Amino acid sequence: MKIGIDIGGSHIATGIIDKNGKLITKQTRDVNINKIEEEKRVENLILEIIHNEIETLLKQYDYTNQDISKIGISVPGSPKGTKIRNLVNLNVEEFDIGKELEKMYKVPIKIKNDGKCAGIAEKKYGSLKNFKDCIFLCIGTGVGSAVFLDGDLLEPIQNPGFEFGHMIIEKEGRQCNCGKKGCFETYASMKKFKANAIEYLKLDKNLEAEEVQKYIRENIKNNNVNKFVNEYLENVSIGVSNIVNIFEPQAISFGGSFSYYEDIFLPILQKKVEEKMFNLDSKCILLSAKLKNDAGMIGATEI
Ligand SMILES: [Zn+2]
Repeated sequence: MKIGIDIGGSHIATGIIDKNGKLITKQTRDVNINKIEEEKRVENLILEIIHNEIETLLKQYDYTNQDISKIGISVPGSPKGTKIRNLVNLNVEEFDIGKELEKMYKVPIKIKNDGKCAGIAEKKYGSLKNFKDCIFLCIGTGVGSAVFLDGDLLEPIQNPGFEFGHMIIEKEGRQCNCGKKGCFETYASMKKFKANAIEYLKLDKNLEAEEVQKYIRENIKNNNVNKFVNEYLENVSIGVSNIVNIFEPQAISFGGSFSYYEDIFLPILQKKVEEKMFNLDSKCILLSAKLKNDAGMIGATEI
């Protein structure tokens, strides 16, 4: 069996995955970097959590270290080799986590960007299984992605690449965390969607994402709500149609919290993207991801 690990912005999920890519069991632990004692480094805390989680899972299922054939890690930022790098939310610049885990478990440790890991899982076992040229777009706090051409994941030598979230879609547009202005992410991310919904629809500032969703669902026929959703999807369609015109994918699968709105968003987005497609005889089906939150973990064991 393999161990899949998904390091998120504020949590670490660890799971046992069988040889057919099926998740047997998983555990999730919160990582609160504000609560770390001063002398302790966040890198050590991450390693400690992963080690404890693996040991607990092994015990629960009567496995030993010898049963593990591989450990795969899905992580945000720009991992390189066995190092995790630029984890903004966890405040880690660079840490060779693979080297440390290899010492403990003596098995191959594979690490890849989270958008790519989730995309690999969707391509092999989920919504993109039947397509050769396809793209996975994870729209959540940011925008993650994986591009497949003729069945293969495209991977540049220098960095993970395909930073669609930082494709500029508006000159002098909204300020992005990356330092530039007008990035796709500042219009498309679900973090911005929620913040803008609260502002534009004059909702209570303390509403959770689920409550905003409930409000939008219940009031979708209301003019203001409809206009807001349409404006959001118009922006999303600019980025998505740019991607379609460059890569000519047969399908794009959407993951992240964007997919919670799949029934509302996808039909409208499909139409808006089609209006902006250069090759009118091309077809690109917009789909919702299947493996949801487990995709990163599963994909990490397929690297
Ligand atoms: Zn940016």
